[in-house]
Amino acid sequence: MYKIAILPGDGIGPEIMTEAYKILSVIQKKKKIKIYTKEFDVGGKAIDKYNTALPKNTLKGCQESDAILFGAVGGPKWNYLLPEKKPEISSLLFLRKFFNLFINLRPAKLYKNLNNLSPLKEKIIKNGFDILFIRELIGGIYFGLPKGRNNLNPENISAFDTAIYSTNEIKKISKFAFKQALKRKKKIVSIDKANVLESSILWREVVTKVSKDFPEVQLTHLYVDNAAIQLIKDPSQFDVILCPNLFGDILTDECAILTGSLGMLPSASLNKKKFGLYEPAGGSAPELQNKNLANPIAQILSLAMLFKYSFNLTNISLAIENAILLTLKQGYFTQDLSNGLNFVTTSTMGTKISENLLKIL
Ligand code: NAD
Repeated sequence: MYKIAILPGDGIGPEIMTEAYKILSVIQKKKKIKIYTKEFDVGGKAIDKYNTALPKNTLKGCQESDAILFGAVGGPKWNYLLPEKKPEISSLLFLRKFFNLFINLRPAKLYKNLNNLSPLKEKIIKNGFDILFIRELIGGIYFGLPKGRNNLNPENISAFDTAIYSTNEIKKISKFAFKQALKRKKKIVSIDKANVLESSILWREVVTKVSKDFPEVQLTHLYVDNAAIQLIKDPSQFDVILCPNLFGDILTDECAILTGSLGMLPSASLNKKKFGLYEPAGGSAPELQNKNLANPIAQILSLAMLFKYSFNLTNISLAIENAILLTLKQGYFTQDLSNGLNFVTTSTMGTKISENLLKIL
């Protein structure tokens, strides 16, 4: 019996989650696996109902589960709140910290025969790409203290954040990255800004030290600005990219667009016990809410990652990926992937993928 806490959240979250439920029901039907799911309120929706983005009941439900499948939170309705009360910080960032989810995995894949989805030129993208981003998720400048504002002189207010990493934080995420690289092409590019930042100098030192325990893996260091360029010049040169929190946030979104749409990219946030929170890389896309236009693939691929990393059911994860690939090859695209004229709705996309999965499993 596997237990999944389902947190659809705001904006397009509930719509794309509905499509993930279709996939879960095919798996239960074909594989006779017992999966117990329970849905909980989170984000802006929970603020409206309970005056908190993460009600106690939701946190308890997550603690009692083996994994969390998350949609997205936030939207203009809650923009008036102070930063620490906003849905993203008070629910999502809190959950990441609470469960010690220091590993963030974001696979970015562009399949060879679907390279027309990418905004990059054919000559650059002809071989597709398959990159695994590994981002440190609960340290660095997003969480470093002190942070705040100095309002003493209203004519010249200052604000500050602290970019801080410790040896142990860097060691933990680096070891995980090198182990993943061993299962792939044995190439890691580590990202930093060691020409300017002290925290990056330490990052580079520690990653280099950890690499000594993995002599089969080839390690390269890149400054983040050069990495942003190289991803556009030739993304196929990369295999595993290891990033501190802030640089990972930015580069993964850049890479998302290279695959065609933010609606295609899943992510997994794990702790050392492989408990994980699985969610699309994109946000709540409020402008698409209730229009049946959002792409559900990132949410469905997040479920595929859940089967792989938290349940160790790699075959099911692969079957889901293959069902998605087949559906795209059959010519079904949501609006974000289309020429704007011929596209299917969110619900049709989910149905087509689940029909293909039913055949594959
Ligand atoms: P966003 O990711 O919601 O949207 C960025 C762009 O990507 C938009 O053009 C959107 O239409 C498109 N997009 C995203 N997901 C898509 C999908 N599944 N299908 C088709 N197109 C998709 O980012 P934003 O506009 O900066 O933020 C909107 C809200 O989401 C904000 O309140 C923000 O704080 C929140 N947010 C939440 C998360 C999260 O819950 N993890 C992450 C990022 C942003």
